[in-house]
Amino acid sequence: MGDIVARKFTGAFTQQAALPAEAMQAAMSVLESGRLHRYNLLPGETGDVAALEAEYRDWQGSSYCLAVTSGGQALQIAMRACGVEPGDVVLTNAFTLAPVPGAIAAVSGRAALVEINENLRLDLGDLERKIARTSARFLLLSHMRGHLCDMEALMRICDSAGITVIEDCAHTMGARWNGKRSGNFGKAACFSTQTYKHMNSGEGGFLTTDDAGIAARATILSGSYMLYERHGAGPVPGTFAEARYQMPNCSARMDALRAAILRPQLARIEESISAWNALYAATDQGLAISDRIKTIARPAAETPVGSSIQFRLPGFGAAQCQALLAAAAKRGVELKWFGGSEPVGFTSAHQSWRYMDAQLLPRTDSVLATLFDMRLPLTFSTGDCAFISELICEAVDEVTS
Ligand SMILES: *Cc1c(COP(=O)(O)O)cnc(C)c1O
Repeated sequence: MGDIVARKFTGAFTQQAALPAEAMQAAMSVLESGRLHRYNLLPGETGDVAALEAEYRDWQGSSYCLAVTSGGQALQIAMRACGVEPGDVVLTNAFTLAPVPGAIAAVSGRAALVEINENLRLDLGDLERKIARTSARFLLLSHMRGHLCDMEALMRICDSAGITVIEDCAHTMGARWNGKRSGNFGKAACFSTQTYKHMNSGEGGFLTTDDAGIAARATILSGSYMLYERHGAGPVPGTFAEARYQMPNCSARMDALRAAILRPQLARIEESISAWNALYAATDQGLAISDRIKTIARPAAETPVGSSIQFRLPGFGAAQCQALLAAAAKRGVELKWFGGSEPVGFTSAHQSWRYMDAQLLPRTDSVLATLFDMRLPLTFSTGDCAFISELICEAVDEVTS
């Protein structure tokens, strides 16, 4: 008798949906014009980058919006525009992606990592302890994998301690807490339009704020030369009086080609959000069937965008976690594990960020030790997601039998 062949999913976890036809047409007109630089405009022309900034500002509900080359650049620029100086302590989540500690290092800040809880949100008790214990005046809050902490409680803590909050919304573009959009709580917010996020321009990002001074400083930092009047959602020219001399040009502008392909995606983003949430619900329900799998609790106040899903396997040792990766892979399911001792692909843990001071984070470590992560690309159907969940449950059974 031969081996029993496992049932297998044959879809691709990294295959993105095609861009809308309007995006392709818009890209062609930019290419035909040859005017790819955001400031290369004909008299009276707005340009795609400025138009996108105005559209994103209106959709986000912020006062100002600046388009930049990446989410990571938006983080660096936001920190500098908010006043982070070399040597300043910047609090941030211990569970996040490498560009977040990377941005803190790029502005010569000192990252102080804050624990997360078992539902992957910032531990507000540890935040208060670290505010008391350090001289921090800044929190770079990463809504990692789309999990929003209690934003009212967080803002109460930070406001009373004089902490400036910068939101990393790379995974929460379109998400809300008690109806208010993620990104509209702190002083400034950063978004990414990198391929694996909620809009896809390959690379790209936005910075939004309601503060005219931050918007002006950020604009000059992004490399606007003195052409800030060509921006679509910036403050009035008078606001730049100081920033134009004080801020260095760090060349992180968005170009017209990316903006042209983002505008039609922004016009459809609510449909994408609903589609992601349907995929998430199908996957989450399927995983909840297993007694061993712990899905992540989603508070009633949160309206997330389920572009990826996480779950835990409490009690699993490292060998079992490794075996689960293999058992899932055999079934065509690409899982990521945050408990590995080596950084792999996009997945790394704080112990691998050795350019910063080593820090003790026992609670986060115990959560990450059995934390799994999976992308939900829009090329999947809800049927695919239900099948994938069955396969994960089977893989868990195989590992534990
Ligand atoms: C992707 C990502 C970023 C940065 O985005 P890039 O556009 O890739 O620079 C920041 N924070 C988190 C949590 C991310 O996943």
